[in-house]
Amino acid sequence: MSEPATGPSQVPAAPEPTAGGLLAAARQLADAADVRLLLQHVLDLSHAQLIARPERRVTSAQAEQYSALVRRRAAGEPLAYLTGRREFYGLDLIVTPAVLIPRPETELLVDIALDVLRGHPAPLVLDLGTGSGAIALALGRALPAAHVVAVDRFAQALAVARQNAEQHAVAVEFLCSDWYAALGSRRFDAILANPPYVAAGDPHLSGEIRHEPVSALVSGADGLDDLRQIIAGAAQHLNPRGCIWVEHGCDQARAVRELFRAAGLADPVSWNDLAGLPRVSGASWSGAESRR
Ligand code: GLN
Repeated sequence: MSEPATGPSQVPAAPEPTAGGLLAAARQLADAADVRLLLQHVLDLSHAQLIARPERRVTSAQAEQYSALVRRRAAGEPLAYLTGRREFYGLDLIVTPAVLIPRPETELLVDIALDVLRGHPAPLVLDLGTGSGAIALALGRALPAAHVVAVDRFAQALAVARQNAEQHAVAVEFLCSDWYAALGSRRFDAILANPPYVAAGDPHLSGEIRHEPVSALVSGADGLDDLRQIIAGAAQHLNPRGCIWVEHGCDQARAVRELFRAAGLADPVSWNDLAGLPRVSGASWSGAESRR
């Protein structure tokens, strides 16, 4: 079947009033914003500066760099890796493909921890799997009296986190460690983690997220392998009345609270993100080894 020819006099068809049509329109708008941010990045100008002097000359090298970045963006590379930056909790962070791109939902984890830790005179805080250093730096900046230890298994990730700490002049103790492995018997008042929690084979891994480190995303068949290890080791690394908070997938809250109970941790609670989905759970350690 052939479509009737569309002459120039015809009014262009309105976007289909379907969810998919509206989503496509929303994506185009989002992409336009990304393209503008790439231009700002190449020209090293703010949005206001860009608008204020449209006659500004652009070198051919800049024009080439810009079109190369636009092509990479169109092929699905995340904006944050193209500009090398992402904002998290008011901090402008360096990001490279060695680290997960910090996400707004992780700010919920920081908020929940700060609610409790602001009442503590000088908390000892552990960030497991720090990546870009996002959580450690947000906490360190908000809690100047805290001592923050941040670990990551990968030296390349730690290098990014260290650069971020230097750039923002936040004191963080960095350690290369596979979860608790390099911490010996050290104990903390709070443990935080945004570990990998996506199930292997989850269909959303084939989207734009494929550019991010798989080691920061995927954790076994049910996505819970790393959360199991982190939660199992918590009582051995928390001070009495210390708390642990972890980010997880929206369908994992019940399982995570069960893991807390099984590890002898008290008062497991989950919190919803802005979309109303449970994405962070926490529990505390009484200080007494549970007798079972
Ligand atoms: N929130 C990420 C996602 O888009 C996952 C991050 C993680 O596994 N820690 O699925």
